[in-house]
Amino acid sequence: MTAAVDATTFDSLDPATGRVHSTWPVHTDAQVEAAVMRARAASGRWAELGFAGRKPHLNAWKAEIARRMQELAELVHAENGKPVPDALLEITLTVDHIAWATRNARRVLGPRRVRSGAMAANQAATLEYPPFGVVGVIGPWNYPVFTPMGSLAYALAAGNAIVFKPSEHTPAVGAWLVDAWRTANPGLADVMQLVTGFGPTGAALCRAGVDKIAFTGSAATGRKVMAACAEGLVPVLMECGGKDAMIVDDGADVAAAADAALWGAMSNAGQTCIGIERVYVTEGSYDAFVSEITARAAKLTPGSHDGASYGAITMPSQIGIIQRHIADALQHGGRALTGGVVDGPFVPPTVLVDVPEHSTAVTEETFGPTVTVTRVPDVEEALRRTNATTYGLAGAVFAKSSRKGVEIARRVRSGMTSVNGVITFATVPGLPFGGIGESGFGRIHGDDGLREFTRAKSITRQRFALPVALTSFDRPEKTTEQLRKVIKLLHGRG
Ligand code: NAD
Repeated sequence: MTAAVDATTFDSLDPATGRVHSTWPVHTDAQVEAAVMRARAASGRWAELGFAGRKPHLNAWKAEIARRMQELAELVHAENGKPVPDALLEITLTVDHIAWATRNARRVLGPRRVRSGAMAANQAATLEYPPFGVVGVIGPWNYPVFTPMGSLAYALAAGNAIVFKPSEHTPAVGAWLVDAWRTANPGLADVMQLVTGFGPTGAALCRAGVDKIAFTGSAATGRKVMAACAEGLVPVLMECGGKDAMIVDDGADVAAAADAALWGAMSNAGQTCIGIERVYVTEGSYDAFVSEITARAAKLTPGSHDGASYGAITMPSQIGIIQRHIADALQHGGRALTGGVVDGPFVPPTVLVDVPEHSTAVTEETFGPTVTVTRVPDVEEALRRTNATTYGLAGAVFAKSSRKGVEIARRVRSGMTSVNGVITFATVPGLPFGGIGESGFGRIHGDDGLREFTRAKSITRQRFALPVALTSFDRPEKTTEQLRKVIKLLHGRG
């Protein structure tokens, strides 16, 4: 977390103690432009290396991170507040994603033949995906390694240079990742640039001549980023917030569902874009689920000590929002079965029941260790409520059979759903990650996540001349009539 010191620097704070962790420059518009120019100058060489040439450099970066992951995990703990084992899990997933992007870039983006079809039988058609050039990455603080890496690694593997602006709450983690790149690849240091600062530094990046912005953060900020990018028609990737729900059907393994819901809701102190903030449980499972989740929640111990279940709320301003959502739930007839009282950065695990659907605890992203559990008559009602949100990021389903679970998952209006598990889709590098509605658009991870940082380039090459050239002013008049007949024959019977 952060406090402004003066116009030129800012402090990153340890959320557990409020003490200054480190001090960083607030980069100006001119400094951001200079960083983009440095990245631009390096981008040509990086792109020209091709997939095979880039591979050893990406692998060297991955190895640097893997070798020093304990050091990075301790830094994440100090700046973001999460327990070191959770930071290690985040880094493990990150390393796996770098490996996947590196391994698959050529397969997904390399040149390929495309069938040219009857109308262009004399043409050889190819499709390839060259990089944009320079990609600006604006990151959040909640998963300061894993989340930006969905853009950093995939954009780099696609052949782009990067200008990275980490969150003002986790600049040291962002700088560590860039330093690791530079240590591993001293000859290609400029391929990854770092700029630090607040919103205006991010806005400057949108206007500094980058070829794409990959943004991860709140929908409210996303709108501002889009507006700034619109000025230069800069394409954007939007990874925004969510209000994800879990559906627990009759006959589901209630203990497993409660365990998963609790992890989804409370790990990282609930500061997870794909965290579970609502649970809809059908009649047959409700009572057992509530007693399971309550008993398990009571055992959680937030804190900064070894063995803490989760850490401090990273942004002090979020504590008030969590407080207000809980108060709103209680005021409208809800009950807190555990927790419910917020008086500092270590928010107790809060399981809320009987909360009406209009409460902000149900409608808005809380980003704290709270969850609402609501009884519904059947899966239809669970789906109706799950989908009654402007967000559409992810979610989870627990059902008696995995087949039924998948059927329900298909009907959840979101980008990702896990069945009989929680947030498992994020651990599969081949699966695209992203949402719909207020949760944003575009995808990181997987084939789509690689293509996101490229432009499709189509090329046709004439293999032989047709007896009659269709795209020529010398085309004989009768050709039109012949074409008409051919098209009628081919397509007129449907
Ligand atoms: P935020 O929107 O406050 O900030 C995100 C980033 O945008 C920061 O780096 C910030 O400095 C920058 N920024 C702020 N104003 C800007 C502007 N006008 N122009 C350009 N950049 C600007 O979000 P946050 O609090 O850091 O992160 C939490 C949010 O991120 C939550 O809503 C969470 O759900 C979401 N999130 C989404 C994903 C995902 O993949 N969908 C992942 C993690 C977090």
